[in-house]
Amino acid sequence: MTQPYSLMIHGGAGALEDLKYEASADDFKQSIVKILEAGRARLEEGDRALNVVEHCVNLLENDPFYNAGKGSVLNENGQVEMDAALMNGSDLKAGAVTCVKNIKNPISLARQVLEQGDHVMLAGEGAGKFAKLYKVEICPDDYFITPGRIKQLKEAQAAGRIVLDHEKIKQKLGTVGAVARDIHGNLAAATSTGGLVNKRWGRVGDTPVVGAGVFADDETCAVSATGYGEQFLRTVLSKTVSDYVYFKGMNATEAAKAGIEYLVAKVNGEGGVIVIDNAGKCAAAQSTSGLIHGWIELGGESICKLG
Ligand code: ASP
Repeated sequence: MTQPYSLMIHGGAGALEDLKYEASADDFKQSIVKILEAGRARLEEGDRALNVVEHCVNLLENDPFYNAGKGSVLNENGQVEMDAALMNGSDLKAGAVTCVKNIKNPISLARQVLEQGDHVMLAGEGAGKFAKLYKVEICPDDYFITPGRIKQLKEAQAAGRIVLDHEKIKQKLGTVGAVARDIHGNLAAATSTGGLVNKRWGRVGDTPVVGAGVFADDETCAVSATGYGEQFLRTVLSKTVSDYVYFKGMNATEAAKAGIEYLVAKVNGEGGVIVIDNAGKCAAAQSTSGLIHGWIELGGESICKLG
């Protein structure tokens, strides 16, 4: 028997009210709803949650509005170094890549790592070699780097700061992620990012770390996180949200809220999570004023929220 599907995506957390978008709030809403509808089409056909979260994140990575794939933020050397990971809730299989360069869709490289199955995470040059082996698309530097990102890096460096893409200094919005429950009742989660503006060369954030920036378990929920990666690493935030479901019997709404309360109480953390539980309930919570996200709960209409 099939079950109703649910899908959530996000485009990063931050202080949205201070932004001057290169795109308007309406542009973001349109982008989010379009991607949700693309995911819906696949879920209705019976596609697996893992394929759908990869596809939705591909679309977000290809859109220069977001800090992932094309339009990623720049590190201290003016380079794009990206992190991505995805996880399948039925068997806890996961794939992750970190500090990758010139990969058009880091989430699809992470998917290859998952499919090949020998390892969970590949880094840097080795991940690049693996990409060539499995014919994952490679693009030149100028595909990724946008004028807005060069300006943003200069501002961050002038201020001597390492910042979230979503802070005032930024021009565009953040890290991307997707969580889904398919008609077979399986959950999956995916997260992809360029990381923090002016981050150190070689820095690894929460996004590619299973349990920190991404987690999925059919018995509990699927989670994708966005915010200051170091804080999400120290609190293992995505797994913490799942643990609230597993050990305390919370639903998605309660677990998302409890997770963010924990993030704030423990490390005064800044960021947000999107969560779908094993009943298909969708929830988001954040400690920042904004979180660009949208959802389709149990086959209902597409809804987008920027805060
Ligand atoms: N969590 C990401 C990182 O620290 C940044 C973000 O979510 O915008 O790399």
